[in-house]
Amino acid sequence: MKVYGRITVFPIMPSRISRLYELAYNLWWSWHPEARELYSSLDPELWEQIGHNPVRFLSEVEPQRLEQVADDGEYLERYDSVIHDFDRYMHPEEDETWFSQNYPHLQDRTIAYFSAEFGLHESLPIYSGGLGILSGDHCKEASDLGLPFVGVGFLYPQGYFIQQINRDGVQEALYEKLHFSEAPAVPAVDPDGNEVVISVDLPGRRIYAKVWKLMVGRVPLYLMDTDVDPNAPNDRELSARLYAGDREMRIAQEIVLGIGGVRALRALGITPAAWHLNEGHAAFLSLERCRELVARGLSFNEAREVVRANSLFTTHTPVPAGNDTFNYDLVDKYFNSYWSLLKLNRDQFMEVAREDHGWGSTYGMTVLALKLTGQHNGVSKLHGAVSRKMWQFLWSGLDVDEVPIEYITNGVHTFSWIAPEINLLFQRYLDADWGRNVDDPEFWRERIKLLPDAKLWEAHHQRKEILIDYARERLKQQHLRLGEGSLQIDEFEQMLDPNAFIIGFARRFATYKRAALLFRDLDRLKRILNDPERPVQIIFAGKAHPADEPGKALIEQIYRASRSPEFKGKIILLENYDIDMARYLVSGTDLWLNTPIRPYEASGTSGQKAALNGQPNCSILDGWWAEGYNGQNGWAIGEEREYHDQEIQAEADSLSLYRLLEEEIIPTFFDRDNEDIPHRWIGYMKEAISTCMPQFSMRRMVKEYTTNYYVPDIEQSIQAGDGNYQDVRTLAAWKERINRYWSNLQLYIQGQRNGQLSLGEGIDVHAWVRTTNLTPEDISVELVYGNTKEELAKPQHTVTMKYIKREEDGAYRFDIHLTPAESGSIAYNVRVVPSHPLLTEKYEMGLIRWA
Ligand SMILES: *Cc1c(COP(=O)(O)O)cnc(C)c1O
Repeated sequence: MKVYGRITVFPIMPSRISRLYELAYNLWWSWHPEARELYSSLDPELWEQIGHNPVRFLSEVEPQRLEQVADDGEYLERYDSVIHDFDRYMHPEEDETWFSQNYPHLQDRTIAYFSAEFGLHESLPIYSGGLGILSGDHCKEASDLGLPFVGVGFLYPQGYFIQQINRDGVQEALYEKLHFSEAPAVPAVDPDGNEVVISVDLPGRRIYAKVWKLMVGRVPLYLMDTDVDPNAPNDRELSARLYAGDREMRIAQEIVLGIGGVRALRALGITPAAWHLNEGHAAFLSLERCRELVARGLSFNEAREVVRANSLFTTHTPVPAGNDTFNYDLVDKYFNSYWSLLKLNRDQFMEVAREDHGWGSTYGMTVLALKLTGQHNGVSKLHGAVSRKMWQFLWSGLDVDEVPIEYITNGVHTFSWIAPEINLLFQRYLDADWGRNVDDPEFWRERIKLLPDAKLWEAHHQRKEILIDYARERLKQQHLRLGEGSLQIDEFEQMLDPNAFIIGFARRFATYKRAALLFRDLDRLKRILNDPERPVQIIFAGKAHPADEPGKALIEQIYRASRSPEFKGKIILLENYDIDMARYLVSGTDLWLNTPIRPYEASGTSGQKAALNGQPNCSILDGWWAEGYNGQNGWAIGEEREYHDQEIQAEADSLSLYRLLEEEIIPTFFDRDNEDIPHRWIGYMKEAISTCMPQFSMRRMVKEYTTNYYVPDIEQSIQAGDGNYQDVRTLAAWKERINRYWSNLQLYIQGQRNGQLSLGEGIDVHAWVRTTNLTPEDISVELVYGNTKEELAKPQHTVTMKYIKREEDGAYRFDIHLTPAESGSIAYNVRVVPSHPLLTEKYEMGLIRWA
């Protein structure tokens, strides 16, 4: 039949357990195992079958079953306890949360977090990979810590694709419609109680988006959906899928996310005091905020100061091709009626996000985000450094170390990823309420000693068995679908050996992740996998982007290997990697392998999930592992450096990996005592837990975002709001003046060029600045010095020179007496930068003049 409407009908719920509905509509249940069990224990089979979606589950569960448990003392006890915990969580005491304890005066402000994807749970396919999981975990932790936080994104009706691998190993993409009546979302309403529908103008038409609200604990997520009347069919499809469609679809989606997202918050009556752009997809939001301010009488430059002052941009992509850019033709088409609202002409508008290439210029979303936010960060220490280099051209003249992009290393939300068996173990041996100490390194360093080796090993083995059952079932289903005979199916039911050493490799199949690195020397791999005394097996899983042909070729290669006589049963490929499968893998394999091309893994997070479940990592020193590896908590593949030639890099890395497996990892794993317990291996497991748990927790991460960025942003916005924008008007006018006269500025210096000093002695340096229309207050003259190594001078120290006087010829004179703090060969120079007390970031103008 042709479907007109779709409604979900729930059975009559016994009133004693009626709050099962309410609970289903808050994703809080997803990271509280006792809450999850209230559903799954009603009908475990149905729970699996409907993909762990409690809303849908409640509509399909047998009413008799509900009646039954409403009378069951044991169930009711669990029910009451969960509801009690839920109520406590949702209505904390005044000073119960971390945020309210530390920032009681900021509780009524709002932090808005924009992301194109949110990976919250497998039943909500609005994420594709790491970026989405990070956003989802970020929201959960923001809720746990009590941040006044809202998320903004899309509710994609078809989400990301379901992966099937056919008989030839070719990935096929399937889309399944998510029926919103079965999603834990409700229409968002404005302060008057009306459902919120926003609109944005696209070329020749207006497009509407309905706003849905989804609760993640205490944090609301506002998700837009364009599949509504009266949108044209094409526009209704606009937000149907994540990262699908052409450039034009992409720019339209990003307009809805950024511009529509701001309008959605306004319609809801929400006024954020801090704005966080998670990746460049949402960067148009800053333009929309500028438009609002220009409409209230500010110039674009003034508006941009207001917008910058309280916004943060997190970049995630060290691969140039991963950064969104648009051709000017497309930007013309979509923005030609918008730039006049900003009181800009076309050139000025394009200039804001201009990215030059050898062949011309494009409109870059990362550039736009960097230029219209006051704070920027990468997602690991190494990625921060890579980003500074990548975007240095926007601050020409600054040394790469001074480019204002910092870093906060990613983490994971502990309770979304810890296996129940490991959780119980920690409760029993570390602390019944160990969750309070998730990010306390001292706690883990000390308490991990209380964990008996045999108990950890036993819990790990339980997880391994659970993974093996799960994998066998998945393989069986996959191959039944492919029409295999019963002989083959029997084989799959025997796949994987709990006594083997099982390596896990699961992530997106992007080429830089080099899933096939282990296959470079097939004979050597064969020897490693086929030792009868020390069996080794590898599980692979992951999706390739549907348009990524080389990524799909990797899947094919691994599929073929998994079906070949020499690797059958040794190499296993599971299809349709998602959050559910990730939970099995990160807690059920023995070793987590990662082989990216350094430095392309911005952070990576799956290895962090594995570590907190007691899995050592074996990885390239890239992303988070470059910080996490300490010699005792896992293994490092290759050297800590980059190569010019990727082929040579792959050769060196694969040799290192083979050697590690043969000489260190596998022998350690199989080194057992008479009870068959591998104490040395368990030492690695414990070290992985105790070092990685606190350092790579989402709790540590969100606290850092809060203290480093959100709180200063909120304070900025309070200040800006109170002064009727007087400060930003002043700052904008000053910046215009500096930009106008900077090119005429000249700098001369006088000081010793060569010679020797004893430590403690100093030299005098003088500088003269000649400028028209700028005053000594407009500038800061800095002496920069540092040790030299092989002709390279690193600017390690910056000292401000003192203004002395205006010389007769009009030049300003600055002096300093430099006493180097350390011995060695020292190089120095002098530079001038613009300086104003209202600048949030010293080098934000990117203007600098060296002598
Ligand atoms: C954690 C996770 C990721 C990200 O893992 P990386 O190590 O960054 O590749 C991707 N997909 C799923 C389903 C995950 O759970």
